[in-house]
Amino acid sequence: MKIQSVQMEPTDSGWYAALGKQPAAKPLKTDIACDYLVVGGGWMGIHCARRLAELAPQASVVLIDAGRIGNNAAGRCAGFAIDLAHNPRNPHFAEDLRGNAEELHVNSEGIDYIRSAVEGAGVDCDWDEGGKYHSAATKRGRQCLDEMARALDVIGKEYRWLERDEICQLTGSEHYFSALHTPGTILLQPAKYLVNLMKALPENVQVYEKTPLVDVEYGRGEQFCQTPQGTIRTSQLLLCNAAYLTKCGFFPNTAIPVYTYASMTRPLTEEEMQQAGLHRPYGVIPAESFGTTMRFTHDRRLFLRNVYSYARGFRSTRSDVEAAHSKHVIAFERRYPQLAQIGYEHSWGGLLVMAHNGGMVFGQLADGVYGAAFCNGTGVARGTAFGKALAEMALGQQSRSIDILKGRPKPDRGYPAFLTEMGVRATTRYRFWRAGLET
Ligand SMILES: Cc1cc2nc3c(=O)[nH]c(=O)nc-3n(C[C@H](O)[C@H](O)[C@H](O)COP(=O)(O)OP(=O)(O)OC[C@H]3O[C@@H](n4cnc5c(N)ncnc54)[C@H](O)[C@@H]3O)c2cc1C
Repeated sequence: MKIQSVQMEPTDSGWYAALGKQPAAKPLKTDIACDYLVVGGGWMGIHCARRLAELAPQASVVLIDAGRIGNNAAGRCAGFAIDLAHNPRNPHFAEDLRGNAEELHVNSEGIDYIRSAVEGAGVDCDWDEGGKYHSAATKRGRQCLDEMARALDVIGKEYRWLERDEICQLTGSEHYFSALHTPGTILLQPAKYLVNLMKALPENVQVYEKTPLVDVEYGRGEQFCQTPQGTIRTSQLLLCNAAYLTKCGFFPNTAIPVYTYASMTRPLTEEEMQQAGLHRPYGVIPAESFGTTMRFTHDRRLFLRNVYSYARGFRSTRSDVEAAHSKHVIAFERRYPQLAQIGYEHSWGGLLVMAHNGGMVFGQLADGVYGAAFCNGTGVARGTAFGKALAEMALGQQSRSIDILKGRPKPDRGYPAFLTEMGVRATTRYRFWRAGLET
């Protein structure tokens, strides 16, 4: 079966560029065989490969990615490893006590697994336990925070209110007037983590970047996989390739492809930091879900993310990035008028995969074939846990996370594609407009 080719992004992410020049990719250029082949080096795939190699040290594990690990959606994200990835601003959030407990369990396992790479294998990623500040710039935003506080009370999760002075002091910006801090979320430099983890993978993992899976023959006992310059025969195939999993013969036409975009400045000088009142790294999540995510990074850059847009065929173009960039310029001016003239060094987009019903792929898909996909927008902690659990499942292990993930709804087809596209385009425009000064 032929697999749709993966779009290479029109621009590099600022996180990846900040790492400096990377050694050239080593694509597969020969025919090989292995025990386990993992396709996709995002949060799911890289942790799946790591776990397989840890649990089966005698086995050969191969990890392939169509592009560069760290410059994919995983490395392009905002770097919040979120413990409670449900949307607590949703009025029904607190009612689902069991769902919340399960979500927390899965995400905490993901965070712990990332932590073990940082502490155990020395994977440098600017690890920061600062938590996240849900910050409001409008009356509606403050109402969203009130709803969120009520939900956190019901589920017994810790939080703390910050009034105007404190959030202004933290961000150096007068844009926000109220915030709610929740501990438990980790901030990291996503590209740095992924690139360093790739180097620290156990010896029985071989990584081939710029090696897309272009054709596959599923069989009993052996899967035959083709890449542009070499073939791979494997006993077990683990598909962790996000939206493209739906092009591999499983869950076709279920992925709603949405892009979101980010921009990043160059490192600020001491003088600019003083001018802007910036003292230490922070991570701000908008009170309104269509608002702007902000970070001030360990290497003194301002990072900003907003805009969601439908990405037909899983593709985004340079002009899409430019359109998002112009919205980012406005958001920068709103928050740091005294700095905005420095502009951004990098702007980029990344693909999110969602389903109509919030469903996710996890588990065995066919004889010798496993899969994990559909982050529904938050994939750092959750994706790590999915990848780890998938490896454990393929090796016949049992765990609470495996049971939870197996019980989750699978993605469904929803409406015909053209209706979904119209609906997503209309909704994202309306909600961006409604978010107003939160953007
Ligand atoms: C700007 C932005 C900000 C975000 N911020 C956050 C955040 O702060 N916190 C959070 O939790 N989430 C965030 N996300 C979402 C997060 O990035 C995704 O949920 C996450 O990357 C999904 O992980 P994944 O492993 O499922 O897929 P991906 O990261 O998309 O990885 C899939 C990999 O599969 C590869 N692939 C696909 N097809 C093939 C093929 N045929 N052959 C070989 N390889 C293939 C791709 O190249 C890719 O590397 C953000 C996303 C963006 C774009």
